[in-house]
Amino acid sequence: MGAFTIHVKYKGGKRDSLEKAITLLQTYLKGAIDKQKTFDSSSAVLVEDGTTPSLQDTDVIVYMVRNISKSVIKAQGGSVATAEANDKILGMTDLNKKICEVYCDRLYEDSPKELSGAIYHETAHIKSNQDNAMHTGKTGFLGASPDYNGSPTDDNNTFLANNLAKKLTMNASY
Ligand SMILES: [Zn+2]
Repeated sequence: MGAFTIHVKYKGGKRDSLEKAITLLQTYLKGAIDKQKTFDSSSAVLVEDGTTPSLQDTDVIVYMVRNISKSVIKAQGGSVATAEANDKILGMTDLNKKICEVYCDRLYEDSPKELSGAIYHETAHIKSNQDNAMHTGKTGFLGASPDYNGSPTDDNNTFLANNLAKKLTMNASY
């Protein structure tokens, strides 16, 4: 039994918000860890820009960028058209390129709650390998218009838990 880890690479935005968001994420992840048997622990870690952590094949990395013009997905040739057309979208996941990112300028007053919620949401997309289809029938953190007040719902944690062991190859060097 090992640990499930979310790495969040800091590429822009308010760093203080990310530090607080990491603490919140660690709390949220416990709710999912309790519902599965592959991992006995979880963690969320801040990764400095310019450094490349080695990832386990079950780990997730989410890029925190200042705004959509700094999109890692776009820089790697993917499309963020949906988020360019709707500034209520806090983050995007490209399932083909295996990249998750969140846009700091869209957080309400640099809210660590919104930031941690958006990281949880994008993690669920990449782990489930589902695009907008993931939102169907979901509320709380995983709906189409997620509510990041409070905590992930029991259903949210069950969904993440059921997908947590899936293997991924994400690039941590962007
Ligand atoms: Zn989504």
